[in-house]
Amino acid sequence: MRKQYLHLSAYSCDKCHGPVVSASLAVRENAISKETDIRQVGAICLSCGYRQDQATEPARARHVLPMEWDPADAIDLRHLTTAFVEALNRAELH
Ligand SMILES: [Zn+2]
Repeated sequence: MRKQYLHLSAYSCDKCHGPVVSASLAVRENAISKETDIRQVGAICLSCGYRQDQATEPARARHVLPMEWDPADAIDLRHLTTAFVEALNRAELH
């Protein structure tokens, strides 16, 4: 059965050494298949807000065990992008 998994990882921020949390989604067609359709959802430093999308060597990302995540419109990439653009537009207005 086709299932979607959420992967979370954490690594050090280049700017402030705070924790960056990065998320990606992957799909498994069945229990023994490899993950496919891996999509980066987003990454952000919880301390300063810097969007650093991967760990800088030699720092290593620490990974949380993948968790099953029901496909939801809430984490549709197009949706996220739209929300992000709207947030930027709002920021420019002020
Ligand atoms: Zn930071």
